Amino acid sequence: MDHEDLRHWSKRAADWAAEYHAGLSDRPVRAPVQPGSVKAALPKTPPEAAESMEAIWADFEALVPGAMTHWQHPGFMAYFPANAAPASMLAEQVANAMAAQCMLWQTSPAATEMEEVMVGWLRDALGLAPHFSGTIHDSATTATLSAILTMRERTLDWAGNEDGLSGQPRLRIYASAETHSSVDKAVRIAGIGQANLVKVPTGADHAMEVEALDSAIRADLAVGHRPAGVVICAGGTSIGAFDRVGESLTVAKTHNLMTHVDAAWAGSAMICPEFRALWDGVDGADSIVFNPHKWLGAQFDCAVQFLADPAPQVRTLGLRPDYLETLGQSEITNFNEWTVPLGRRFRALKLWFVLRAYGLEGLRTRVRNHVAWAEEACAALEALPGVEITTRPSLSLFSFALRNGDAATEALLQRLNDDGRVYLTQTRHEGRFVIRVSVGGWSTTRDAVMLLPRLVEDFA
Ligand SMILES: *Cc1c(COP(=O)(O)O)cnc(C)c1O
Repeated sequence: MDHEDLRHWSKRAADWAAEYHAGLSDRPVRAPVQPGSVKAALPKTPPEAAESMEAIWADFEALVPGAMTHWQHPGFMAYFPANAAPASMLAEQVANAMAAQCMLWQTSPAATEMEEVMVGWLRDALGLAPHFSGTIHDSATTATLSAILTMRERTLDWAGNEDGLSGQPRLRIYASAETHSSVDKAVRIAGIGQANLVKVPTGADHAMEVEALDSAIRADLAVGHRPAGVVICAGGTSIGAFDRVGESLTVAKTHNLMTHVDAAWAGSAMICPEFRALWDGVDGADSIVFNPHKWLGAQFDCAVQFLADPAPQVRTLGLRPDYLETLGQSEITNFNEWTVPLGRRFRALKLWFVLRAYGLEGLRTRVRNHVAWAEEACAALEALPGVEITTRPSLSLFSFALRNGDAATEALLQRLNDDGRVYLTQTRHEGRFVIRVSVGGWSTTRDAVMLLPRLVEDFA
C-alpha cells in the first residue's frame, strides 16, 4: 500500500463513515454477539505475505461493525456518552495523517500552542476564573492520578519521588462514596493505598457531609496521619451526585489540603450559565477535570485538567533528561512535563474544530435539549403504573426501577437492551437495582429519548 492507495482508500473510508452514521438507527445499539465470536473468526497467526486492501476492507466490513456497540447511535443512553461531532472526526483524520508525537513544543509547535489556547477558551466557556491554565490528558483517570500524585508529593515536600514512600507517615485522601472508581485506582497506583482513601459519608442530597469531612481530617491529624488532599465530586457517575463544592473547598483549605474536582461528565454542562450553581465555589479548586469527550462532541480521548498553579504538578511529573532538552528555548511549554505519559496525541485540534464548527451557542443548545428531554422522559416514566423514579434528573441523568422488585427491573433492562432500539445500564442505589438513563449523544433526538417510556410501557 502506497500513498496513492492512501488517497483512494481514504475516500472509501470517508464514504463508509458517512453511510455508517446515516444508517445507525437501523442497527441494534448493543452488539448482539456472543463472547468469543470475533476471536473465532480471526486467523490464529498473522499473514506472512502481504494481503490486498480489498481483502482487508471486505473482512473489516464483514467482521467489525456488526460486533460493535454503537456509541453514536441515537438510542445510546448507557454509561455516559462518548460523543463525536462530525467536525471532531475530521480533525482526528487530519491529526492521524500528520501522525505527530506531541511531547515537546519543538516536536509539535502548533499542537502545544493550540492546547494552551483551547484550555483557555474552555476555561472561559465554563465560566472559570482567568487564573486557571491547564493541559489535555487522554482520560479523567489520568488527570485524577496526576492530581493525587501531586497531592502526595506536595505533602511530602517531594520526598516521595526521591526516596519512595517507606518510612513516610500515612497519607490520607478524602472523597465521598459517590466519587468515581478512578479515585480508588489513583490512590492504589500512587502508593497511598486503598485503606488511606477516606470515604466521607454523604447526606440525603448525596453530597459529602462537610462536617464529617472536617472531623475525619481532625481525627487523622490527632493520630499522626498526614492528610494530603480532597477529591470533590461534581456529577457522580452512578446517579449524578454533586458535593457542595465551595463548602468542601473551604474545609480543605482550612487544613491546607490540595483539592481536585472531578467534573468528568458534568463539566461540559457548565458552558450553560444556568447550571453553574451546581459547582458554585469551584474557582477555589487547585485542579478540575472534565471530559469534552463525554458531552461536548470532541470525541474520545480528550480530558481537560484545569490547574490554579501548574508548578506543583510539573514538579511532580516533569523530568528533563538531556535528550529532551530544547536547546536555546527556555520560555516554551513542554506538555509532557504536565502529564503521566511522555508521548502525546494532538488532541487540541478536535476541540478547535468543534468549538468553531458549532459555536458555544450550538453546544449549549445541545446540552439544554438533552437536559430537557431527560426531564420529559422522566415525567413520562413516572406516569406509568408500576414505575418508580429512584433518582430525579441531575442534568440529563436519572434512574428508575419497577415497584415489584429487583428481579423484575433487571428483566426489564434485559428486554430493553435485547430489543436493540435503546441501550441502558444499571447501578445500585440505596441497595436497589435501578436502571440509569443518561441522555447526551451527539445525534440523539427527542424522539429517540421519548421512545424509552413507550418501550417500558410495552415491556413492563
Ligand atoms: C467517566 C468518569 C470518569 C472516568 O473517565 P475516563 O476519562 O474514562 O477516565 C471519572 N469520573 C467521573 C465522574 C466520570 O463520569
